[in-house]
Amino acid sequence: MKIIRKSKEINLLFKNIKKSGFVPTMGSLHKGHEYLIKKSITENKVTVVSIFLNPKQFNNKNDLKKYPKKINDDIRICKKLKVNYLFIPSFHEIYSWKSKKRKYPKINKIMEHKYRKRHFKGVLQVIEKLTDIVPSSKMYLGEKDFQQLKIIKDFIFLNKIKTKIINCKTIRDSNGLALSSRNQLLNKANKKKAVLIINFVKKIKKKKSKKNNILKDIKENFKKNKIKYDYVENINLKTFKITNKINNQSRLFVAFYLGKVRLIDNI
Ligand code: AMP
Repeated sequence: MKIIRKSKEINLLFKNIKKSGFVPTMGSLHKGHEYLIKKSITENKVTVVSIFLNPKQFNNKNDLKKYPKKINDDIRICKKLKVNYLFIPSFHEIYSWKSKKRKYPKINKIMEHKYRKRHFKGVLQVIEKLTDIVPSSKMYLGEKDFQQLKIIKDFIFLNKIKTKIINCKTIRDSNGLALSSRNQLLNKANKKKAVLIINFVKKIKKKKSKKNNILKDIKENFKKNKIKYDYVENINLKTFKITNKINNQSRLFVAFYLGKVRLIDNI
């Protein structure tokens, strides 16, 4: 595995590689990231992973400061998985890169875009640079962050970028909790609460009752357990709009707080 820190170096290299898989991450890698990386390695001759904690997508400085950072473990994991290239750029390497001018897609003002106002602009700013610096034929993104996946797909389509987005399923702990770098910030009691919440959402969804009852039950469960939440929505995955129908085209999306840790999931 070769570690590259310079945008110019990786750009020159990837201009000459026709088929490659790219897994962009913010580091503190867990089995969810590993799933994306393994999938790329199986499907491509060359896999590149990037680790870049993008300050522009954080709403507040404290969240960025507390975000887990484990670069040595990350390097070890990527080596173990036999990643070909690990791109670890500095802020300057990313944002001083003169990329092509891109259009940004219109984003529906729902869920993350409603509650974390500048978040997706920050995501698109880094994706605009990364897709230019590392011109890969496939990019692996997790359904754990489904709204982000959808927006990046729209960005790629709108700008006719020749990268295919590969959706990757959400990897969960055996207790049902979706793996997330932020889970490390939870104390034992709050981790237990997170597991209970997610399993409640799963159970309620199986009941197949009317949408309004389902959303009401989930919200009441948050209130009963004194858990602050931003939203509970039922979304059609094709249109990515709020829908009344609960079926295999739809998912329940939640964002909630345990202590100061904000978790998102979709089921
Ligand atoms: P992050 O490091 O949080 O920016 O995540 C990097 C990529 O890994 C994104 O495409 C995420 O959606 C994906 N990811 C994060 N957690 C999981 C998970 N539990 N299962 C599958 N993919 C995940």
